[in-house]
Amino acid sequence: MKRLNWGMIGGGEGSQIGPAHRMGAQADGNFVLAAGALDHDAERGKDYAQRLGVAEDRAYGNWQEMLEGEKNRDDRIDLVTVATPNSTHFEITKSFLEAGFNVLCEKPMTMTVEEGEEIVKIAEATGKICAVNYCYSAYPMVREMRNMVANGDIGKVRLIVTSFSHGHHGDATDADNPRVRWRYDPAMAGVSGQFADCGIHAMHMASFVAGDEVRTLSADFASTIASRELEDDAMVSFRMERGTVGRLWTSSVAIGRQHGFDIQVFGETGGMKWFSEQPNQVLYTPVGGRTQIMEKGESGLSDEASRLSRVAIAHPEGFPMAVANIYVDLAAAIRGEPHGDYPKAVDGLRSMAAVHQAVASANEDGAWVDARPPMFRT
Ligand code: NAD
Repeated sequence: MKRLNWGMIGGGEGSQIGPAHRMGAQADGNFVLAAGALDHDAERGKDYAQRLGVAEDRAYGNWQEMLEGEKNRDDRIDLVTVATPNSTHFEITKSFLEAGFNVLCEKPMTMTVEEGEEIVKIAEATGKICAVNYCYSAYPMVREMRNMVANGDIGKVRLIVTSFSHGHHGDATDADNPRVRWRYDPAMAGVSGQFADCGIHAMHMASFVAGDEVRTLSADFASTIASRELEDDAMVSFRMERGTVGRLWTSSVAIGRQHGFDIQVFGETGGMKWFSEQPNQVLYTPVGGRTQIMEKGESGLSDEASRLSRVAIAHPEGFPMAVANIYVDLAAAIRGEPHGDYPKAVDGLRSMAAVHQAVASANEDGAWVDARPPMFRT
């Protein structure tokens, strides 16, 4: 099968998320890195792209040059990944979609709800793929949980409790470090700090596993380090369309917690738990029964969990392979083949609405507000 041409914007040398995309996109032989504008420093970006195997004439100094250079090529890129800082996502994603490219955008997809609605509409109008990298939803055992919920294995879902709380910005003496400070500066980060950065992964996961959407929410935001203008800790209660109660805690000052992303789903006839630091396992407890440990790669899992597992039982695959699972389905979708689910622009839009509504709620002492984007309010 012919490999697809893949381009990357951002994710340069030393970036946090760049390597996971490169490992993920190229893991299954579907994509080859053909073009890139990898760095805010043009020369560094060109140099690094060429060291990664990109031809000199497709190692671009910035994304505008890349758009111009790629759009009229016969072998133009089939997919572009946007892995730049948040405030640039909207402009780059919009420009590439409008020029007829498929896009995988990092989260958060945009900074405002209006921008999110615009991206959804452009993706619809152009018929191009616009995916958003909610990659945790692509772990095999997360797919297993989702499948069990859909099968009714735990009955109606009563309650979801999720947290994405780490301690890596908990040192007040480090608060002025430029790599940390921008995240809590409204001029750089927008209206929300920790909720927009990590909380939206947890909220997307709740919706994904439940097969439901968040309808209303009430938020309590705190800046526990006084110099911060944006929240470094948030508690968000929510209700889903089918009545499921949600509790979400996100923090960057939870010293001792590392990645710190977990989700528990409690239904009428059972409960389940998954923790990102032990992603191969789901703990499942039927009502009145003992807790069972379900393992990635064991027999009897759903087709979806089996399809997205690559190595044998008990061998870790981990984060880059969850990202790879997003690329597997994007490759199939680009080729017009049957494919599984992947997070889309509409998920990015729902997150943006939740972020802005959580800020509004927090500013009103936790008043309950409609969490949905205006275009989905009926
Ligand atoms: P980073 O600061 O570590 O790296 C950003 C990279 O983008 C750098 O290489 C920088 O030079 C480059 N860059 C900046 N502006 C650019 C521009 N205009 N054109 C081209 N390149 C540019 O950031 P990061 O932590 O890798 O985060 C990047 C994005 O990925 C953010 O939106 C973040 O929210 C997201 N992210 C997602 C996950 C996830 O789990 N899905 C995890 C981490 C980060």
